[in-house]
Amino acid sequence: MPDQYAVIGNPIGFSKSPYIHGTFAQATGQDMAYAAIEGPLGGFAGAVDAFRAAGGRGLNITAPFKLDAFAYATERSERARLAGAANAMKFDGERVLADNFDGVGLVRDVAHNLNRPLKGKRVLLLGAGGAARGALLPFLEQGPGELVIANRSPGKAQELVAIAEAAGARQVRGCTYPELAGQAFDLVFNATSASLRAELPPVPASVFAPGCLAYELAYGKGLTPFLRLAQNAGVQHLADGVGMLAEQAAEAFEWWRGVRPDTRAVIAKLTLALI
Ligand code: NDP
Repeated sequence: MPDQYAVIGNPIGFSKSPYIHGTFAQATGQDMAYAAIEGPLGGFAGAVDAFRAAGGRGLNITAPFKLDAFAYATERSERARLAGAANAMKFDGERVLADNFDGVGLVRDVAHNLNRPLKGKRVLLLGAGGAARGALLPFLEQGPGELVIANRSPGKAQELVAIAEAAGARQVRGCTYPELAGQAFDLVFNATSASLRAELPPVPASVFAPGCLAYELAYGKGLTPFLRLAQNAGVQHLADGVGMLAEQAAEAFEWWRGVRPDTRAVIAKLTLALI
């Protein structure tokens, strides 16, 4: 029987992970199967217990179970601890290892696929939820010149600043949206969930410096209100989170199987025109 993997979430019908991991497995010749599990709300642990009892080797975790996965694990990576959330688990007997590859996948997409390294750049991160927390440490590892975190609830942005400072960073600031007036950045990331409801975070159009990259973490939504704001402000480099999705999947795949898959084919297949 092939080794069993799956993604668990609720709802799960939309997930691209079975397609992505199926493509990776075929391309790398791995004998594995990858399913989608709709975990019952409030019943995450039971669903994972059943998957493990049936011989499951690893899981990807998507909304709303990333915090449950973190709690379920017996061992957590530093990235997962910082995010307070896990998006991948590996089972080894009684051991349950948890990691969070969202942030490292985002950085890989931006620095490698889009060729926009963060080193020395002015970086703006909108939002301070799970995805922003996951991005914090991988962003800092790239050595941005300045990292500003803006959030609707300012306390959560300040929490991330405190985490960054505890990790030794001195170039991180938190602020409110109105305080962004008059500031411009080389890379602007929308890590709010506003786009999932076709909403726009109240970010001034002046944040986009000439030559800026505007990056929307949501994917499959086409030109979101955030990307439209950037386009109307003259930004020519627009991207959504499809590359991040593929890269976090590649990280999990390598963690499980010890083989690094090439992401180009799945990114090309899943990319929708930003129009
Ligand atoms: P969370 O629910 O953890 O956080 C949501 C964040 O968005 C909070 O900071 C919240 O602010 C802010 N927010 C929500 N609505 C608005 C609004 N109308 N205006 C301003 N701020 C708003 O979500 P996640 O961090 O899990 O996800 C964020 C985004 O990242 C989503 O679009 C998700 O699809 C995407 N994502 C993409 C991945 C990929 O692989 N491409 C992987 C993971 C996430 P407040 O604190 O004030 O409530």
